[in-house]
Amino acid sequence: MTATLISEKRLLPPCRAACPAHVNVQAYVSLIQRGKFREAVEVIRKDMPFPAICGRVCFSPCEDACARVNVDQAVAIRALKRLVADIEHEQGRVTPEPIPKIQRKSRHNRGWTCRVNSSLRTCKARLSRNCF
Ligand code: SF4
Repeated sequence: MTATLISEKRLLPPCRAACPAHVNVQAYVSLIQRGKFREAVEVIRKDMPFPAICGRVCFSPCEDACARVNVDQAVAIRALKRLVADIEHEQGRVTPEPIPKIQRKSRHNRGWTCRVNSSLRTCKARLSRNCF
């Protein structure tokens, strides 16, 4: 079975092409192979936010499309997803650091200046009315 042409640029391996969420199977299986379970869960979450649920209930078309069947048997893609999700559940999820808000400086600090100008103008108007 060959890779599936999704678009001019994107050629997906059969497992990822068969997955309804196009989860990057190759990436997370290779991370699991290197013992990087947390990183594997984060890779899964990029395309599908429920690794623990899908690891239990998905009908896993990815495994039907797995090219490994040409050698011996399909990679247990769904079970691996369940494994890393359960490990994360046991060890607790590492929540990524929040991205600091960028304080945007406005060119003229318009809000404040406008208020001053308008109140100055009103003050001037009020003063002119009252004084003369
Ligand atoms: S088990 Fe389901 S969600 Fe996971 S890669 Fe396979 S098809 Fe996609």
